[in-house]
Amino acid sequence: MKERIQSVTTIREKARDTKVVREADVVVVGGGPGGHSAAIAAARSGAKTVLVERYGHLGGMATGGIVIQIPHMSDGTKEQQIVGLCQEWLDRLDVVGGCLHPQREDIGSGDERLVSRWRRFMGNVVNGRIKQTAWVDPELLKCVLNDMVQESEVKLFLHSWGTQAIVDKGKVQGIIFESKSGRQAILGKVVIDGTGDGDLLPSAGAEFDGTLDPKSRSSMLALVFRLGNCDYQKLCDFRESEPERYRELMTELTRVAGTRLAPLPSSRNDVLWINNWIPDLNCMNVEDLTTLEVEMRKMMLRGHEFIKKNIPTFENSFIMDTASQTGTRGGRRLIGECIVTRDDLQAGKKYDDAIALIPRFDALGNTDHVQLPYRCLVPTRVDALLVAGRSFSSDMAANNMVNLIPHCIAMGQAAGTAAAISIKDGVNVRDVNTKTLQDSLSRQGVPLPSVPSIVSKV
Ligand SMILES: Cc1cc2nc3c(=O)[nH]c(=O)nc-3n(C[C@H](O)[C@H](O)[C@H](O)COP(=O)(O)OP(=O)(O)OC[C@H]3O[C@@H](n4cnc5c(N)ncnc54)[C@H](O)[C@@H]3O)c2cc1C
Repeated sequence: MKERIQSVTTIREKARDTKVVREADVVVVGGGPGGHSAAIAAARSGAKTVLVERYGHLGGMATGGIVIQIPHMSDGTKEQQIVGLCQEWLDRLDVVGGCLHPQREDIGSGDERLVSRWRRFMGNVVNGRIKQTAWVDPELLKCVLNDMVQESEVKLFLHSWGTQAIVDKGKVQGIIFESKSGRQAILGKVVIDGTGDGDLLPSAGAEFDGTLDPKSRSSMLALVFRLGNCDYQKLCDFRESEPERYRELMTELTRVAGTRLAPLPSSRNDVLWINNWIPDLNCMNVEDLTTLEVEMRKMMLRGHEFIKKNIPTFENSFIMDTASQTGTRGGRRLIGECIVTRDDLQAGKKYDDAIALIPRFDALGNTDHVQLPYRCLVPTRVDALLVAGRSFSSDMAANNMVNLIPHCIAMGQAAGTAAAISIKDGVNVRDVNTKTLQDSLSRQGVPLPSVPSIVSKV
């Protein structure tokens, strides 16, 4: 008699005891721009802090994702709106020769020689004036971020995946993570989700929105790669002398590769990074992530062969590396105490609890500033949890507009500072005194609406 095989849709795992390996004030999961900044700010504000990162390095998309442009820190005037920890990244990278950006005194300048030099770098000129956008070396940035963690006495767990929030009576108590050492727990008074994708939100019981508009930048996946032995200045000469030919070649490159590949400068003239966009794949779906890794490598080979044969300066180029971190621009967005919407950003809405001032540019190059409120980092119905980075509470369009690296650093700095204040003052993160938070951020060099910008030097 044939045995009947029933299809199994779920299995029940056995309950088990999980070892607690650490207790801390603040536990941050994810060490990208948002999470790293949250951990640094919390520790420097006096909180015993743990940082848990799934890879062997820190920096998230800015290092592992090879997203090496830190743009729009200023608005074209002499003022710089994003300073704080973001400026500290630049200052520290300058010391080790890992960063290319306009000099502080040149920001806002309309000097023709400077403008024509920086116009070749996407995002360094607005309305004919220099603005602060930096090009960073991802390997040196990994080292700088480690230094910041060690100097701030943050306890770091690398190669550790945060898998679950520990929750009791609506209050987050810590996290569970998996690593080569097995499944372990860390308890904390406040947990900050810096995973970018909001990985802890479902298990924490926090409300979130995971819908993505397939046409928006936020829902495109990427596998960035770098080409070595190039000459960026020569590429610019060609682009400027034969713009029509360059456009045709770019169109042909998209056709041959099967996706859009955009050569961009880096902190070195001989290295370019190739940004790319693959639509209709979901960064929360492991099969889509797998498809991306496999298909993008084929596209990369086809694209590079075409580039080498057809575009001057790439003749002797080689594929230097591919990103260890898949390029995910969107993910789960928290539904928080305040949901930032496109209309709010377009109307330049002001907030009493503003924690960041962000330059914004429209398609015509007009500039204004938008503010981000503290409440977009705070969940509605769960206690002792904050988010730091691109999972901030926002609608799809707003998320698309303000989830860049400097924005995420600014959100992280605010989240970490707020977590430390909540512990010091014995209040829930939701009830942190926003004036105390703003005063603390100002002392850290963060320009806020009422406070002029100050550029720090480490
Ligand atoms: C291809 C591409 C091009 C882009 N171009 C630019 C650009 O030019 N300039 C710019 O400013 N921005 C750009 N962006 C956007 C920007 O890179 C991101 O929005 C930003 O890095 C988000 O920061 P984050 O800290 O929120 O998340 P991430 O940078 O994604 O960092 C999240 C961190 O958490 C870790 N992590 C994730 N899940 C877990 C887990 N479960 N447990 C432990 N650790 C975990 C990750 O390894 C990572 O270190 C681009 C993005 C992409 C994909």
